Amino acid sequence: MNKKIFAANWKMYLNSNESREFMLKINANKDLFSEFDIMIFPSHVAISIIQDLAKGFDNIKIGMQDCDILTSGAVTGSNSITSHKVDSCIVGHSERRTIFNENDELIKKKLNNCLDQIGSAILCVGETLNEKEENKTFEVIKKQLSILPHQIQGKNLDIAYEPVWSIGTGLVASKQHIEDVLSYINILIKELYSDEDRPNIRLFYGGSVDENSVEELSSISLLDGFLIGSASADFDKFKNMLNKMR
Ligand code: PEP
Repeated sequence: MNKKIFAANWKMYLNSNESREFMLKINANKDLFSEFDIMIFPSHVAISIIQDLAKGFDNIKIGMQDCDILTSGAVTGSNSITSHKVDSCIVGHSERRTIFNENDELIKKKLNNCLDQIGSAILCVGETLNEKEENKTFEVIKKQLSILPHQIQGKNLDIAYEPVWSIGTGLVASKQHIEDVLSYINILIKELYSDEDRPNIRLFYGGSVDENSVEELSSISLLDGFLIGSASADFDKFKNMLNKMR
């Protein structure tokens, strides 16, 4: 079984003190946490703290959960992708699409901003339950991926398939469903990019992944990693997931 990347989307679960405590525990379990490629997306206020405490880990990358379409200016409450030196940024998360009414046009601007400024991003795509029941999954994915730039020229693009009905619900998509969707995404990517670019594109699954599902899903060959929400913000659950994959 090849080792998968663990991307931890801490959402608004942990404040800066709790984030610090979490990183101290990671440091106390350095052997285990050094074995995997890990990405952590803390709340914005905790980014510097996490970066400081991750200095001893070459394998831990730190990213932003979202960014503005601009890099500076009069945008109260927003965060520039250049506000910290980060390795990646999540764009198009379903919570941003629904709670903040972000559409594909805006997400495209954020994606291009991330690729231009830091050369890396995770784009989240996925269908709602209604769309799944109406057999519109591929149609939705195709539309959401239509914002991809035509050239990525050495930049790192991660695409996270996150069915909306699976996020935070405890309903993990079946292995077959994930395989079907990732195969479809792979076809779209191959149509768009050259063989040379393909190694710079990684495919993730996200949606209620935890210690009970991680092992089975890890056998999906097209899958490079997991984008994990609630289970990644609980130290014991995170540790258990890694232990299962050792
Ligand atoms: C997410 O929000 O990206 C996510 C996958 O959340 P959860 O693991 O909690 O379903």
